[in-house]
Amino acid sequence: MKKIKKLSIVVPVYNEEKTIEKSLERLFNVDFGTIKLEVIVVNDGSKDKTLQVLNTLRKKYPFKLISYKKNRGKSYALRQGFTKTTGDVVTVQDGDLEYDPSDFKKMLKKMSQKEVKVVYGSRRLNKNNKQYSGLSFYLGGLLLTEMVNVLYGGKITDEPTCYKMFEGDLLRSIPLKSNRFEFCPEVTAKVLRKGIPIYEVPISYQPRHAGEGKKIKLRDFFEAASTLIKYKFVD
Ligand code: UDP
Ligand code: MG
Repeated sequence: MKKIKKLSIVVPVYNEEKTIEKSLERLFNVDFGTIKLEVIVVNDGSKDKTLQVLNTLRKKYPFKLISYKKNRGKSYALRQGFTKTTGDVVTVQDGDLEYDPSDFKKMLKKMSQKEVKVVYGSRRLNKNNKQYSGLSFYLGGLLLTEMVNVLYGGKITDEPTCYKMFEGDLLRSIPLKSNRFEFCPEVTAKVLRKGIPIYEVPISYQPRHAGEGKKIKLRDFFEAASTLIKYKFVD
C-alpha cells in the first residue's frame, strides 16, 4: 500500500457560468479523509460570466485560479494546470455535472495499491449508466477505446473518460502537446507506450447534450483517432 498525501485536481472551464458553482460545491463536499486537496481551476478564456462567478466562489472555497483571456482549448488549459500541481496524485474534474467527484475515492483506493500508477474511471464498467450524450458519442468512445487496445495493447473499456488519475510525478514527466480535446488519447498513448498499465474502476455518469453546453464535436473524434495513430509512431 502507498500512502497518498495530496490529491491535485485540475478543473478546466470554458463558458460554464451555469454549472461551475454546483460542480465546485460537489467537489469540496467530498470527504477525502486525511488526503489533502489541491484544486486548480483554469478559466480557458470564458466569454460568459464564469470568471466573475469564480472570483466570488474563491471567498467560499480554497482553490487556485489560473485565468487568461483567449480560449485555447481544454487540453491547453489542463497543461497550464498540471505544471502548477504539487500532489502525489493528480486528476481532472470538468466544470460541468457529468461526473460525480465522490467516485475519486474509489479511484484513490485503487491508486493506493503499490503497483498502480494510473487509474481511469470507466463509465462502461458501471452497468447502471445506460445513457450517453447520444449514439455517436457512445460509438465514438467505443471505437477510440478499441483503437487503444489494438494499437497499444491496452485492456481498457473507456478511453475518453474525463476521470483519469495519475501519480503526480509520472504525469508531470510526460511531455504533453495537445490543445483541444486530444489530451485523453495523447496521455493514454504515452502511458501505455511506457509500458505502464492502466487500471479501471466503475464510475457513474450523467451525460449532458450540446444544448446544455457540451462542446465536444465530431471533429474531435477524428482528432482523437489521428492522435492515437500519430503517437504510435512519434514521441
Ligand atoms: N473546456 C475548456 N476549453 C474549451 C472547451 C471545453 O476548458 O475550449 C472545458 C469545459 O468547460 C468542461 C470540460 O472542458 O469543463 C469538458 O468539456 P465538455 O463537457 O464540453 O466535453 P466532455 O465532457 O465531453 O469532454
Ligand atoms: Mg463534460
